Amino acid sequence: MEFETRAIHEGQEPDPATGAVITPIYQTSTFAQEAVGVTKGYDYARVANPTRTALEDCLASLENAAHGHAFASGIAAASTILHLLDPGDHVVCVNDVYGGTYRLFSQVYEPKGYRFSYATPAQLSSAPASHVADARLVWIETPTNPLLNIVDIAAVAEAAHAAEALLVVDNTFATPFLQTPLDLGADIVLHSTTKYLGGHSDVIGGFAATNDPTIAERLRFLQKSLGAVPGPFDAWLVLRGLKTLAVRMERHCANARAVAEFLSGHPRVTQVLWPGMPDHPGHEIAARQMRDFGGMVSFLVETEEEAVELVAHTEVWTLAESLGGVESLIEHPAQMTHASTAAGPFAAPRNLVRLSVGIEAVDDLVADLDRALAAVPART
Ligand code: PLP
Repeated sequence: MEFETRAIHEGQEPDPATGAVITPIYQTSTFAQEAVGVTKGYDYARVANPTRTALEDCLASLENAAHGHAFASGIAAASTILHLLDPGDHVVCVNDVYGGTYRLFSQVYEPKGYRFSYATPAQLSSAPASHVADARLVWIETPTNPLLNIVDIAAVAEAAHAAEALLVVDNTFATPFLQTPLDLGADIVLHSTTKYLGGHSDVIGGFAATNDPTIAERLRFLQKSLGAVPGPFDAWLVLRGLKTLAVRMERHCANARAVAEFLSGHPRVTQVLWPGMPDHPGHEIAARQMRDFGGMVSFLVETEEEAVELVAHTEVWTLAESLGGVESLIEHPAQMTHASTAAGPFAAPRNLVRLSVGIEAVDDLVADLDRALAAVPART
C-alpha cells in the first residue's frame, strides 16, 4: 500500500472488543494473566503496551523497516542506541547535529570512555571511506540541524559497512515522507517524534527502526532494560499525528520554498540555507535522496544583535525551540537549541536564524518576516 494509506491504517484495526475505529489509549501499567505466563501478548507496560505497539508497527512501516521501537524522547532513543556500543568504541558523527545530541555525546558518553570525532557533510559525502575507517558507528543527520547541510546516505552507508561500522541516520528533519534511510543502506533510523511525526507541538517522543533482526532484538532488550518508554497517551498522540503527516509535509515544503525564495531576495539577509535552492552545496544529493526539500529554513543576517532582535519581532512566527509543528517557529540556535555547541568544534554561527515553517497561509508568514526585518535596525 502507498505511504498515505499506511500512515492511516498500518498497525491499526477497529478495536476487537468494542469496534472503536481509533486505537484506544490502553492506560494500564499491567495486564491480567490467566495462569502464570499465560497472557494475551502483554504482561507489563514498560515491556509493551498495545497503543505503543500500534505506533511502533505504523511508523516502522513508514520507514520501510521490519522492526520499530518507541521511546520517551528523541534523546532517549539516541541514548539507547549508544548502548549498542562499549566504552572505547569510536563514533564518527557529522559536524552539524542537534545541540542536545552533541551534549549527550560530549558530556555524558565521552567521559565514560566512548570516543567521538566529527567530519563535515562534504567530507562524509565525497570521501566517506577515509573518514569512517576506524569507526564502530557512524552518526549522521541529513538535512542537518541547524545548517541544513546534506549528507549522501548511500555513500556513507557503503563506506561504513566496508569498515564494519553501523550507520545511524537521524531522520527527524526529513521524516519518512521525504526520505527513507534504510532503503539507502542505513542500519538504524532515528526520530524525535516530538517534531513532524507528532506534528502539533504537544508531545515529546522518540523512535528507532531497523531491518536487522539482531539489532532489533538488542534494541528491544535495551528499551525494556533502560526503560525510557513513552506512556500510552504520548504514543497515541504520535499515532494520530502520523495520519496527517503526508498532507502536512506537502504544505510544509511548499511554504518553506516560498519563504526561502522571499528571504533570498531580501537585502538584509546575507545567506539562505535551504537544500531546495539550486546553489545549495547539497542540492543535487538532496534531489536524489529526498522527495522534496523539507520545511526547515535557516538564514544568516549581518550580526548576532540583528538575529536576536529579529526573532523577538515576529508576530505570526513564535519565538520558541523545537520544530515540525503546524505552527511556524523562529529561533536563534546559538543561544537556544545549540547553546551546548558553543565551546565545541562546531559552534552554531552567532548570526544564524532558524525557521520551522508551519502550514499557515504563506502570505501571512512572508508578510510577518518582511515586517520584522524592516523593524530591526541594521548594525555593522
Ligand atoms: N534529533 C534532532 C534532529 C532534533 O532536532 C532533536 C530535538 O530538537 C532531537 C533529536 C532530540 O529529540 P527530543 O527533544 O525529542 O529528545
